[in-house]
Amino acid sequence: MIEPEGSLELILGTMFSGKSTKLILRLKEIEHRTHYNFLLFKPTIDARYGTKSQIQTHDQLGMDCVMINNSSELSKYLHSKEKEINKKIKVIGIDEIQFLDGKILDYCKKWIKNEERIVIASGLLYDFRNKFFKFKNSRKTMIDLLNLVPDKVDYGVASCQYEEENGLLCKKPAPMTQRFIGDNVASYNDELIKVGADELYKPMCREHYKYYKENK
Ligand SMILES: [Zn+2]
Repeated sequence: MIEPEGSLELILGTMFSGKSTKLILRLKEIEHRTHYNFLLFKPTIDARYGTKSQIQTHDQLGMDCVMINNSSELSKYLHSKEKEINKKIKVIGIDEIQFLDGKILDYCKKWIKNEERIVIASGLLYDFRNKFFKFKNSRKTMIDLLNLVPDKVDYGVASCQYEEENGLLCKKPAPMTQRFIGDNVASYNDELIKVGADELYKPMCREHYKYYKENK
């Protein structure tokens, strides 16, 4: 069998749109079909390097993953694992890629182009202000990930969680995500990642999303 060249698949969408489920199903499908070795990574804040964990989706689907704080940790783990098993890890899965640093873009480019790997990443295209999500320590955003010219893009949205007066949820397609701190809509200039904050995200339709004046 001829190995396909490197490729990039993106699973994008809002929060609660089933991105992790799609990512896990896609990795399982490729493994079943090709028997390629794969690793699934998930960015976190303050994880011990290489900690093993599990991604659990809302529909009870789970898969082992490696927690990493940044893209160099990811690369370091990848190479040490390849040395250990003496085989190439052909497929790299990354959940929530938007939480990584900007260097992940250079790594992705190298993996796809020079090392013929299959990169499958899920992520949020927009933050709660409807701006392209910005990578850490970088001016690069998720639009720069799209600039790597993916082979495949899946885009999904959740359903609106606005509670109507009759107590029922609106449930219209919700392309936006409203961020709440306590009971209030988060202010426009809040940090993107607030550690330990009492924050909550709700998918909202265009009618129920509260727009920021800075966006108009
Ligand atoms: Zn709505």
